[in-house]
Amino acid sequence: MWNYSFVFPSMLILLTLLSFFFARRRLPIRQNRIFLGLLALQLWVMVFDILSSRADESYAQYSAGLLHALNGGFFLLFIARIFWFYRFTLGILDIALSSRWARLSAIPFYITEAVCLSNFATGAIFSIGENGYARGPFYNILYVCFAFYLVLSLVLLLRRARHLKRSVLAGGLAYNLVLVVGNVVRFLLPQYLVMDTFCTLAIVIIYLSFLNPDLYLSDRGPTFNMRGFRLVLQEIRQRPKYAVLGFVLQNYNNERSILGGDQMDECISLISQYLSKAFPHCLPFYLRGGRFALTCADAETCERTKAQILARFHQPWRAHASDLYLNIAFASVDSSVNLGSVDRIVNNLVLALSSVHSTGESVNIQEIDQQIDITRSLEQAVERDQVEVFLQPVVRSDNHQLAGAEALARIRDASGQLISPALFIPIAERTGYINQLGQQVFEKTCAFADEGNLKSLGLEWLNVNLSPIQCMQRDLSERFNAILARHNASPERLHLEITEQSMGDYVHLQQQLKALLERGFRFVLDDFGSGYSNLSRVKHYPFINIKIDMEVVWDYFHERDSLLPTLIQGFHSMGFTITAEGIETPEMADALTEIGCDYLQGYMFSKPLPMDEFVQKYRLPA
Ligand code: C2E
Ligand code: MG
Ligand code: MG
Repeated sequence: MWNYSFVFPSMLILLTLLSFFFARRRLPIRQNRIFLGLLALQLWVMVFDILSSRADESYAQYSAGLLHALNGGFFLLFIARIFWFYRFTLGILDIALSSRWARLSAIPFYITEAVCLSNFATGAIFSIGENGYARGPFYNILYVCFAFYLVLSLVLLLRRARHLKRSVLAGGLAYNLVLVVGNVVRFLLPQYLVMDTFCTLAIVIIYLSFLNPDLYLSDRGPTFNMRGFRLVLQEIRQRPKYAVLGFVLQNYNNERSILGGDQMDECISLISQYLSKAFPHCLPFYLRGGRFALTCADAETCERTKAQILARFHQPWRAHASDLYLNIAFASVDSSVNLGSVDRIVNNLVLALSSVHSTGESVNIQEIDQQIDITRSLEQAVERDQVEVFLQPVVRSDNHQLAGAEALARIRDASGQLISPALFIPIAERTGYINQLGQQVFEKTCAFADEGNLKSLGLEWLNVNLSPIQCMQRDLSERFNAILARHNASPERLHLEITEQSMGDYVHLQQQLKALLERGFRFVLDDFGSGYSNLSRVKHYPFINIKIDMEVVWDYFHERDSLLPTLIQGFHSMGFTITAEGIETPEMADALTEIGCDYLQGYMFSKPLPMDEFVQKYRLPA
């Protein structure tokens, strides 16, 4: 009655696959657990298929109860198996099994299982009569259930096709189509027991496409690779608590070229072995380029693990019969901040690891994330011409009347909140956006001057900050001149503030300033005293005003000595006027006026204001 020629070889293939699966290191992720369930179900379906078929053939020798149990058990497992294939499809589509939608879609499975279970009483699927096994009136519910989950799987895969990697889509479609063919063949040739063969084939496709350990095992010792890291992150980031600790071998590329690839590779293997032995509850990953990562239960475990790893790196690693001391730096991320996608976590971790420099240093990648957000806001503001200019008054020290104002750049984050220049200016300098940003600030300040504001406010000049990076643009003076011309602005009224830091490249800066000076611009030295001040250099620059850094001002105010007054006298004798920054109280204003500061700037007079507020506040009576 039954033909067993397919079922036994299928069983052998399955057993081979099982032994491979258990012999290699596995990632403890949901996909693997579902697959394991699938393997177990497949094995039991085959056992029950063979036993029930055999028993049905010689039904006279067995009791009706046993025949019921064997056939009933087979159908229960048969339906569970298709449901597990469907669960695997949900897994690769990253649909949570606990989601409302996934739970609703399980209803046909429970109904069909209930019908199978009640078969004892109802005979809906099959009955055991005088002539042995016979199909019941609702036998086809099995096919309907099977077809339902296959169609659903295929629809879901095709609907998400555009967002899936090609290999995932191809693997997903392949095993589901094999199951479709199996179902059709079973429907047409039920006596051949071929369904088990098609299911085994589908399982082999799943193993090769998604779970082959070579896909996620690192080739450097007992660690997992980047692909494995992504799979694990996808799962653990949904947990209420998790932490990931990353560390990098410093100067990896240099060390590799000095020590040679083989010796370095041996070190990587040794570190991998150490990690997997010393931290059995953490999963170790090698992310290439000397970068490692470990998953930890929570932030506290992460800290303890870090200390332990650091202590181990104080000892040498013995590779190729020599002792090597390696320096490492850390970066970590934990569940306290939602970083969104796996891509973002991975990118930020790699970025953080490449930005830590000193040994044992540790950065939390949330900080890197903030920098990425700022870079994004900066990019947007610059490209959409949305850099805002705020103005802060600079007053004469003798009468506190407005003399000039400093233009200060502002950008906003996605929620419209202002971002501090202390955060975005260094990023703009690093990324090169400072050139466009500086130009926008200059253009908007010139436009402000052009609108008759200087006169109506009694402003003599406006100060604009010039970054050292901007000074490296060869055509800076032409660019600024063109902007001036567009707005009929006069260069004498636009003072450019440069910091001592810019004076590092002495010759180049002098040439640059000369070109600007020839076009009529005036210069102000900003933040004097905040860096390595070189007085003899200051003498050689065409400054008209020196701004004393607020830290220096505050220091003087708290502990008066003769240094600042003497310096100011000296500057005066060289022809510079002096501005004191950071004046917050009338006492500070008096003290700094007393020692000869000509101008004062600070919160006592006003914080930097948007241009329209500035105009409203300082407009002179008509
Ligand atoms: P800076 O040029 O020294 O500007 C003065 C900074 O001190 C401003 O900070 C101002 O708000 C702050 N300040 C003024 N008075 C007080 C006070 O009484 N107390 C305190 N605590 N702070 C005071 P802001 O606007 O945050 O700018 C910070 C720095 O960012 C600027 O320092 C400047 O170096 C840079 N920056 C701002 N806008 C631009 C720009 O358009 N281009 C360039 N290259 N750099 C800019
Ligand atoms: Mg300034
Ligand atoms: Mg300053």
